Amino acid sequence: MLIVKKFGGSSVANKERIYNVARRCVEEYKNGNQVVVVLSAMGDTTDDLLDLAATISAKPSKRELDMLMSTGEQISVSLCAMAIQELGVAAISLNAFQVAMHTSRDYGNARLKKIDTERIKAELDAKKIVLVTGFQGINRYDDVTTLGRGGSDTTAVALAAALHADACEIYTDVDGVYTCDPRIVPEAQKLDEITYDDMLDLATLGAQVLHNRSVGMAKKYGVELVVRSSLSDAPGTVVREVLKVEKRMISGVAVDKSPARISLIGLHDAPGIAFRVFNVLAAEGISVDIILQSVGRDGTKDISFTVDRKDLDASIKVLEENLSKLTAERIECEENVAKVSVVGAGMMTNPGVASKMFEALYNEGINIKMISTSEVRITVLVDQDNADAAARAVHNAFVAQD
Ligand code: ADP
Ligand code: ASP
Ligand code: MG
Repeated sequence: MLIVKKFGGSSVANKERIYNVARRCVEEYKNGNQVVVVLSAMGDTTDDLLDLAATISAKPSKRELDMLMSTGEQISVSLCAMAIQELGVAAISLNAFQVAMHTSRDYGNARLKKIDTERIKAELDAKKIVLVTGFQGINRYDDVTTLGRGGSDTTAVALAAALHADACEIYTDVDGVYTCDPRIVPEAQKLDEITYDDMLDLATLGAQVLHNRSVGMAKKYGVELVVRSSLSDAPGTVVREVLKVEKRMISGVAVDKSPARISLIGLHDAPGIAFRVFNVLAAEGISVDIILQSVGRDGTKDISFTVDRKDLDASIKVLEENLSKLTAERIECEENVAKVSVVGAGMMTNPGVASKMFEALYNEGINIKMISTSEVRITVLVDQDNADAAARAVHNAFVAQD
């Protein structure tokens, strides 16, 4: 069998953990399998590199940031290859350039487009364990790109698809996908299986256990994923299309502490104003999430929306520059907010989900700042200080009772 194994940052955080990964890979190899290993940077290395860049420049070039961040993964693959060699098995580390992992142009958030498999296959044929840097690629200018935070999962799935691997295993610091982040809700339940769609919703709404693009890619190419612990032999959670078990109404609760809210107050209540606002942001490449427009009164209206906190300064700057064109009286913003979402395909056929969620929040005295819904989820924006309590209350109302 050809097996792709991905280990996250905490699983390679120090020498002992690297040897643990090396031993797991050697065991798989000695069972007669071909093993391709994708690694993240050790521990908090990527954050540390970003902090380092911040000491040099307040607004570093995205190209140089990618060049810098990509070094983290090179450290872990080379060290782990050495550990495997110490254990007596041939191993080779490859970076994105050596494999040739081709991506789109965008620095910091590139999309994998094509992977050359010749080099990896040749190394596997030479009976080596192959270690590949996660999270990075090269673009058409032969520059290093990165895939967005948490992107090593996507590297693993893309490799599994390109190599037609028999298994793709994502090893992390929890033993599977839970109904909510077990660090926030200790009574969260581990799922044996979850569909691609439910996992995609959870990941997109903040469950960082899998990079959301990795789930979309797994669905597209039919790659079955197993999420499991690098420190135990617990079976983990399978992410795939068809579930044997009957579907739950709610698959889980997700928390996202990254948004910021912006409100434009006193806009003219006229056609084209919303277009102008979001056009100005789109031109800067800023994505907007929850949008709320008030009912017009006395010829004016307000529009509120959320952006990723890292885009807040750029958003305010461009909105301020265009304040009169947008007809806004003033801009307000709030940084300490969080999104809490309840997710599940079963919601479509069950009335009363929203009222149950809002009741649970009311019982905890938590104020809702914004609401957004789709057929398969309800998201509320709350104060960041209330996010964990909100997640516990909502989880308790749905999952614990399910
Ligand atoms: P890695 O470094 O292995 O990629 P991450 O930190 O990216 O690990 O993802 C694992 C973390 O995801 C867990 O430690 C957990 O706190 C968090 N998490 C968030 N939502 C969930 C969930 N629904 N199930 C399991 N873990 C979750
Ligand atoms: N090292 C990168 C990050 O911290 C990629 C990853 O861990 O998946 O975001
Ligand atoms: Mg991760």
